[in-house]
Amino acid sequence: MMLAEPPTRPDAGHEMAGRDFFDSAVEQFTIAADVVGLDDGMRQILSHCQREVTVSFPVEMDDGSVQVFTGHRVQHNTGPGPTKGGIRYHQDVTLSEVKALAMMMTWKCAVVGLPYGGAKGGVTVNPKLLSQNEIQNLTRRYTAEIAFMLGPNQDIPAPDVNTNPQIMAWIMDTYSMNVGYSVPAMVTGKPLVLGGSPGRNEATGRGCVFAIREAAKLLGIDLTTSRTVVQGYGNAGSVAARLISDIGSTVVAVSDSTGAIHNPNGLDLTAVDAHKATTGSVVGFAEAETIDPAALLELDCDILIPAALEAQITRENAPRIKARLIAEAANGPTTPGADSILEDRGIFLIPDILANAGGVTVSYFEWVQAMQAFPWTEAMVNERLQQVMSESFAAVYAASEKYGVHMRTAALVRAIERVAGFTQLRGIYP
Ligand code: NAD
Repeated sequence: MMLAEPPTRPDAGHEMAGRDFFDSAVEQFTIAADVVGLDDGMRQILSHCQREVTVSFPVEMDDGSVQVFTGHRVQHNTGPGPTKGGIRYHQDVTLSEVKALAMMMTWKCAVVGLPYGGAKGGVTVNPKLLSQNEIQNLTRRYTAEIAFMLGPNQDIPAPDVNTNPQIMAWIMDTYSMNVGYSVPAMVTGKPLVLGGSPGRNEATGRGCVFAIREAAKLLGIDLTTSRTVVQGYGNAGSVAARLISDIGSTVVAVSDSTGAIHNPNGLDLTAVDAHKATTGSVVGFAEAETIDPAALLELDCDILIPAALEAQITRENAPRIKARLIAEAANGPTTPGADSILEDRGIFLIPDILANAGGVTVSYFEWVQAMQAFPWTEAMVNERLQQVMSESFAAVYAASEKYGVHMRTAALVRAIERVAGFTQLRGIYP
């Protein structure tokens, strides 16, 4: 079955050209809703965002001039609990994109059983053109504009594209100053000293490897003799590479925005890290050959981890992918056209809303620690993350068997069944 993947960036590839982000997200939802036979009323409820707020606000720039920026905060569904989702700063942010991402967050939280609905925020700005002071001013004013819908029991932001722990600290401080006391649980992805969680930085890559372990058991792949390729040696990708290599897989190729490197005998990742730390790039690493970044996806390997951008595995290159297992650490790396080709070729895919849900899961742990004012150790965080990922993988696989659908649709089916269940039980107010 072909599945419509909601693009997460406007430049998400030619297969997405001209499509509206939110329309694509609804289309994807509809495919899974058909599988579970969702009734019309529930379809209508879940295919709308519950709250959409757009704000335009002035920011005083360093030279004394004033610029007006536009931002959004969207809460897709508050049925399961408070809403959760990142805030991105990017020049291409649109309301449609933020709505699609908010809906995707509802499904991602539901797949791993978190007590959250989905939300997302964004400001249309290229932060690379702003000073730190201007970013702080923008962050504080944007937070003040949307503060009425935020809060530890309402809606909890987190970092996303071009936002970071420092920006989360400013959001927390602005909110706290306005209510008159400190509210660390109102945001996650905070710096550790302000109540961030140990293990949060590694959570997405670690969760992805936990999911790969489950899939490998199912497919009979011996990870100790397997070969792995990672596209995007950043936060998610480098952690996934290191952890899969720790359990015995040979990482034969990695890439970043500057290029790709390959060594069929395996890369020494500690040495790659050192090379990247000094040169800012994986390219030029002595014990590997530099290869065409596009060719990296088609290398002979068992496991492929796309951990960079959207729309990397397309209708064009999907027929040449050699991996037996693809784990989507990135959001939306596979286009709808590629999905059906991979399925026909029998390549097992762990979809993004499952494979990269480790990040939001440890954000949830951070929120729990802040709500209880009781910090956990990193070992506790990792153990609970493993439990969540293993159980969620098993539940999605069970749904794929039950309905005879591939893992992407199965993950959505599990998510929709959960959220529809909450909505059904709560009924319609008044
Ligand atoms: P990051 O910026 O730390 O890393 C991205 C990496 O991709 C960088 O090394 C960059 O150089 C590389 N890259 C960029 N363009 C590339 C290209 N054309 N070819 C190869 N590599 C390229 O970002 P991240 O946080 O690791 O996020 C990566 C993906 O994972 C995104 O899709 C993000 O939405 C998703 N994700 C991340 C998290 C998280 O907690 N970090 C959680 C969920 C999903």
